[in-house]
Amino acid sequence: MGCFKTKIVIFSENPAYLRMAAAIGQSIGGEIIGISAIPDVKFVNKLYLIDKMDEDGIVDLITSLSPDLVITGSVRKDRAIAARVAGRLKLPIVPDIVSLKLDGNKAIANRVAYSGMGLVTIEAELPLVVTVVGTQLQPKELEPSMEKVQLKEGRIKVVSKKSTASGANLATAQIVVGVGRGIGSKENVKYAEQLAEALGGVVGGSRPVAAELGWVPEDRQIGLSGLRIRPKLYIALGISGQPQHIAGIRDSKVIVAVNTDKNAPILENADYLVVADAVSFCKAMLKKLGKQ
Ligand SMILES: Cc1cc2nc3c(=O)[nH]c(=O)nc-3n(C[C@H](O)[C@H](O)[C@H](O)COP(=O)(O)OP(=O)(O)OC[C@H]3O[C@@H](n4cnc5c(N)ncnc54)[C@H](O)[C@@H]3O)c2cc1C
Repeated sequence: MGCFKTKIVIFSENPAYLRMAAAIGQSIGGEIIGISAIPDVKFVNKLYLIDKMDEDGIVDLITSLSPDLVITGSVRKDRAIAARVAGRLKLPIVPDIVSLKLDGNKAIANRVAYSGMGLVTIEAELPLVVTVVGTQLQPKELEPSMEKVQLKEGRIKVVSKKSTASGANLATAQIVVGVGRGIGSKENVKYAEQLAEALGGVVGGSRPVAAELGWVPEDRQIGLSGLRIRPKLYIALGISGQPQHIAGIRDSKVIVAVNTDKNAPILENADYLVVADAVSFCKAMLKKLGKQ
């Protein structure tokens, strides 16, 4: 192992982000140590296969490895773990990176800023913690050695669990129907749900709808302070398209916006704009699809 320069520990509870972390790790070279609860992780040199997603246990494991660089994903648990590892080891943290280079002991990271509209270059000394938000890089397959780890019960005990996740995973969905304030009411969200179901997709929402009005569950918020999605098709129903929302949808392949305002800002990022009432659009689509 003496030939490895940098000890890079990667973690994400989401396989897509774990791949991104590995791709960035591989791009700078070093020993890539993965932590995952899924055994078939092929793009690391060493895999610690953990028995449970215990946050305390994962923080303990990462810190015990004395890493030079920790790369996590950007989903909720990833961010919490990154922050706690940085706090425990008293390391700097650079969130939301899209690329990383090393110049000796100096890391040069590009991170997104201004809701994804700009990039900022940050220099920091190793050891360092970063969270990755996106990359075009793909990791190459390696032949990892694997060690099973039984994490100790953490200090935080889960007393009971209540699922707030309403169905399939938004982060990996191929078709997402997003509802905004323009849908009009909680009652009207059912038309978006019917449309999503007819298309084999899932429903998400803008911040006001998810976090303030409670028209869709809170964990369905899309955007800068919610989930970043990358579906093949995103249908935005009554969403104005503020930068904080666009930050979560800019990796969608095709964006269809439905808005009564033909000048709504989402026009700038949409592939198609349908000038229509959101509910009437859903009803017309459902009819076309033979669902009504
Ligand atoms: C720090 C920070 C973080 C944020 N994070 C997020 C985030 O993660 N996600 C997020 O979404 N927002 C976020 N926001 C809020 C963001 O700035 C916007 O306020 C929000 O996205 C607007 O939501 P909206 O498009 O649903 O509502 P509005 O801006 O009110 O837009 C409603 C749209 O519906 C249209 N409309 C009205 N009636 C109809 C109808 N009958 N049919 C069709 N269209 C109609 C209107 O023309 C309008 O374009 C954040 C803000 C801040 C400051």
